[in-house]
This record gives sequence, structure tokens and C-alpha cells, in this order.
Amino acid sequence: MIYDYLIVGSGLFGAVFAHEAHKVGKKCLVIDKSDHIAGNVYCEKIEGINVHKYGAHIFHTSNKDVWDYINQFAEFNNYINSPVAIYKDELYNLPFNMNTFSKMWGIKTPAEAKEIIEKQRSEYKIGEPKNLEEQALSLAGKDVYEKLIKGYTQKQWGRPCTDLPSFIIKRLPFRFTFNNNYFNDRYQGIPIGGYTKIVEKLLDGVDVSLNTDYYDFIKINPNIARKTVFTGMIDEFFGYKLGTLEYRTVRFETEILECDNYQGNAVVNYTDYEVPYTRIIEHKHFEFGNQEKTVISREYSTEWTPGMEPYYPVNDEKNTHLYSRYKELAEQEKNIIFGGRLGQYKYYDMDKVIEAALHLVSEEL
Ligand SMILES: Cc1cc2nc3c(=O)[nH]c(=O)nc-3n(C[C@H](O)[C@H](O)[C@H](O)COP(=O)(O)OP(=O)(O)OC[C@H]3O[C@@H](n4cnc5c(N)ncnc54)[C@H](O)[C@@H]3O)c2cc1C
Repeated sequence: MIYDYLIVGSGLFGAVFAHEAHKVGKKCLVIDKSDHIAGNVYCEKIEGINVHKYGAHIFHTSNKDVWDYINQFAEFNNYINSPVAIYKDELYNLPFNMNTFSKMWGIKTPAEAKEIIEKQRSEYKIGEPKNLEEQALSLAGKDVYEKLIKGYTQKQWGRPCTDLPSFIIKRLPFRFTFNNNYFNDRYQGIPIGGYTKIVEKLLDGVDVSLNTDYYDFIKINPNIARKTVFTGMIDEFFGYKLGTLEYRTVRFETEILECDNYQGNAVVNYTDYEVPYTRIIEHKHFEFGNQEKTVISREYSTEWTPGMEPYYPVNDEKNTHLYSRYKELAEQEKNIIFGGRLGQYKYYDMDKVIEAALHLVSEEL
């Protein structure tokens, strides 16, 4: 055995694990099938702008330990995520807050907003909601649902809200203050210089091999390490023998524009169904860039098929059950630990994936 750990995947989970294990003298090899490190948080420099290649990533957390941890590897700027929604020719602030309500109804006070919402909601108190549309109407009322939820959700899931289960929306984050900060977390920002640099620092001193697929590599090097940390897809690891776990994915259309400011905000959601994309990201605004050109990405929510980037696990009953069966198989693999968003078939925010990797490493070492 040459290494203590073979770490499959150089995303945040693998990189944090490798960093901590290396720090206490364990020999680690990180492999990634991709031609770059950092997995989903990889940023590519285009026209001097850090482009979030796999979708907009905003770091936010309420966990001070995680915040202190990540700040060892980067300085964060003071970016606050304040998306804007465009519905036909109307423009609204998100999340749903007093700015949204005053624009929608021409009102000024929280009491007025609450009264309108309550009145609209009461028209839809229809017992147990049978689908997402009924759920959203009973929580938000007609105006917010029709203008800000319906079309966006249909595009996100690729089917009408009447065909979607109600559990997708459990509650709606109404805020009766003039506060456009999307997140409620204590800490938030974008790492100055991009996310890839964080992963570079995490992997400093660790052996890394890119363009290296686990399945080819392990055939040639079966005894390379004492243990493996696997952050790829759990169903693929087991040859899909119990079936394929489903995902939703996003297709990005990225374009360089000959103007310095296209939409005036990093994130603009298109909430009417007729516009085929869900959002436009203008990357420079994450870092308050003042480059001459700008780079935008239109996001199209798409059904995932093998070969595409798997993004959002579909946590319905069928897939949850299938994952639990794969998890049983995984538990029988004594020298392989499955972690991260693909290894655990779980949507993890970045702070949560760091927390999970730190937890695993402390158990392991
Ligand atoms: C569109 C989108 C937007 C997001 N936005 C945010 C956000 O704003 N804020 C936030 O906190 N979180 C966000 N996240 C979540 C964030 O991306 C994840 O928490 C994090 O990237 C997960 O890290 P990971 O290491 O588990 O997975 P990944 O980053 O996916 O790393 C897995 C790595 O394993 C490699 N790999 C897979 N299979 C193999 C194999 N067979 N052989 C070798 N290598 C392999 C892959 O190439 C990849 O590099 C977002 C996620 C998505 C999908």
C-alpha cells in the first residue's frame, strides 16, 4: 500500500478530507476524472471574471466553526445575495418581502401586506392540499403564486404544478421587513479570487491526479491505498445493479457580452413560463467586477440522463428508497467510505458538505 487514503473526487468533500488527513501525516492521493480540481465549485476565468462553471455558488452559513475554517483558505467579500424576479414586464425583489409586496400591491405597511395575503390565502383553504399548486395557493395566495412561483417551479421540475407533490413546498419564507437578503444565515460572501483557489490551498502538498477515472484506475492499482473515500455517484459505484437514481440537472448557456453591465444584479430569476430559462447569472456582480465586458449564463432546468452532470437529487419516495438500498450495500464495503453530495445522494450546501467532511475526518482519525 502506497497511500493511507485514496480520495475519489477533488470537490469540497474530498479536498477537506484530504487536507485534514494530510495535516496529521496520512498519505493521501486525490484522483478526479475531470481535467480540473474543485468539482462543482470550480470557477473558470473568462475576460478576467470568475465564472461559476457549474452554477452560481454563494457561500452562506450560520456555523461559526465552518466559517472560521473556510476563512483560513480565502478572504470573503461582502456580497449579499439579493435576487430579482422578472415576471413578464414586472420586476420584483426576492425573497418575498416588503419590497416585493409594496411593488405588487402598492402598499406601504406590513399590516396591509399581511391583510392582503391572508385574504388571498383564505380563498384557497381547501383541506389537505393534493398537489403543489394547491399547497402554494393556500400558503401564498393567488398573486404571489401566479407571478412568482408557478412558472418558475414548472420550469424547474419540467411539469405542471398540479402534477407535482405538495411536499416540495413546505412553507414559504415571507418576510415583513424591507430586507432583500436571500439568506438568513449569520455569515455570507464570495471568496475573493474564486472558489478554485480554496481547493488549491486545501490540496497543497497532497498528491493529485486529474483526468483519472476511478474505475479504470482501480483496475490497474487495486492495492494503492488502505482505504478509499468515494465522492462519486453511489449507484454508478455498484454498476447501477439496483437501478438508476434520478437527478434534475441544469444546462448553462454562457455568453460574453460587449457591455459592462447587462442586468445590474448577479441573479435574475425569470418567473413566467414563456421564458424558457429559469435564471440569468451575471458573474461579475458576485465580486463587484468593473471589467469592460461581462459574462452571463442562462440556466435551463433539464431532466437528467446518464452522461450529464447530476445536480439535484430527486428526493421522492422511489429514489429515497432506492438510495437506502444502495446505502446498505455501501455499509458492507469495509474499506470504502461514501461521502459528499453524490456518494450520499443528498443536496448539500457548501457549508454542510464541509461540516460533513470534517465530521468524517474526526471519526476516521
Ligand atoms: C447548480 C448548483 C448550485 C449550487 N449553489 C450553491 C450555493 O449557492 N451555495 C452553497 O452553499 N452550495 C451550493 N451548491 C452545492 C455545492 O455545489 C455542493 O455542496 C458541493 O459542491 C459538494 O461537494 P462534493 O465534494 O460533495 O461534490 P462535487 O463537487 O461534485 O465533487 C465530486 C467530484 O468527484 C469527481 N468524480 C465523480 N466520479 C468520479 C470517478 N468515477 N472518478 C474520479 N472522479 C470522480 C467529480 O469529477 C467531482 O469533481 C450548489 C449545487 C448546484 C448543483
